Amino acid sequence: MERHVTPHHAAWEKAGIVDRDVWVAAGKQGLLGMDVPEELGGGGVADFRYNTVLDEEITRAGATGLGFGLHNDIIAPYLLSLGTEEQQRRWLPGFCSGELITAIAMSEPGAGSDLQRLRTHARRDGTDWVLSGSKTFITNGINADLVLVVARTDPDADGARGLSLLAVERGMAGFERGRNLEKVGLKAQDTAELFFDEVRVPAGNLVGEEGRGFVHLMENLPQERLSIAVVAVAACERVLELTLDYVKSRQAFGRPIGSFQANRFLLAELSTETTVARTFVDECVRQHMVGRLSVSDAAMAKWWTTDLQNKVADSCLQLHGGYGYMTEYPVSKAWLDGRVQAIYGGTNEIMKEIVGRGLGL
Ligand SMILES: Cc1cc2nc3c(=O)[nH]c(=O)nc-3n(C[C@H](O)[C@H](O)[C@H](O)COP(=O)(O)OP(=O)(O)OC[C@H]3O[C@@H](n4cnc5c(N)ncnc54)[C@H](O)[C@@H]3O)c2cc1C
Repeated sequence: MERHVTPHHAAWEKAGIVDRDVWVAAGKQGLLGMDVPEELGGGGVADFRYNTVLDEEITRAGATGLGFGLHNDIIAPYLLSLGTEEQQRRWLPGFCSGELITAIAMSEPGAGSDLQRLRTHARRDGTDWVLSGSKTFITNGINADLVLVVARTDPDADGARGLSLLAVERGMAGFERGRNLEKVGLKAQDTAELFFDEVRVPAGNLVGEEGRGFVHLMENLPQERLSIAVVAVAACERVLELTLDYVKSRQAFGRPIGSFQANRFLLAELSTETTVARTFVDECVRQHMVGRLSVSDAAMAKWWTTDLQNKVADSCLQLHGGYGYMTEYPVSKAWLDGRVQAIYGGTNEIMKEIVGRGLGL
């Protein structure tokens, strides 16, 4: 982080995208595809705790432009558990070296929370799928070389049935990128619109089973949500650390501002909640390691920790006074960057729907 990321991050924020070189640098350090078999260029160790360490260090560095978490925690499981041997040989070496950047495209202009309303569709024509439609809000959308696109492949199946995952590759005719979207935070992250106009996707690029795309998504979403929760807790810890330093040195009325009882109590409360969050998320990681993380627990972890992240960032910004509103202070960036955590990966309202359903309601 200190060598390859921190010195460049401000420039990437201005550019709205990270330099592809940082992906290759991460690949050289063995930070991409840690759970991919060694013979395919990966680390050969399927232990999600390595992913969490990387997510935490990226968060501590405030390097929110790096899309490594999406690549490692969200895409890798699809390629490893659903990819054919041929697909794995074709894609995973580049995935691990950082030369093949990935994305996943579920959301569309008209369908986010309600994935059953997806309009992007593909029809079979000989040995190809012919894909048309558009996606939006896609993380790594500009840099991505391989995009897992969720498309309706059976027009007659309603709702969740009839969706499939198609791997669309850079350069396929009819695959165009739209705007690199301007966002409130995550300024160095390329979040983009994608367009597909009769893209011929070879049948060999179907990932997983035809018509079971929704099931594949549901199987992988708990890890995505856990990954978001891991980042949320690390963000709370980092902002608290920054703020504790600040309130100990900033003086008002002849004393450090942290020594006023209201502020001391506030920081005591936030520190307690962060510790509770860390304890729960660590337990979720342990459950995940043995294949027992429930959909409901992952949803609880996602909504609760990201709400907390926003609360901690907001309170800590307030404790910085006017300096907190200045972009040169990292707390302001933490406040802006954290806001989306309650939105993506399934909004926190959808998380509560999942938890509620788990209660039989
Ligand atoms: C920076 C960023 C990166 C993203 N990256 C990706 C990506 O890589 N790939 C991808 O596919 N998507 C990505 N997304 C999209 C993200 O997952 C969606 O924005 C999110 O799922 C919400 O969908 P929506 O925006 O369509 O909101 P909507 O579904 O329209 O929701 C609007 C509001 O209605 C609420 N709502 C909806 N349904 C219910 C309900 N049943 N009960 C109560 N409230 C409800 C929501 O909680 C929300 O508050 C990203 C988004 C952002 C902002």
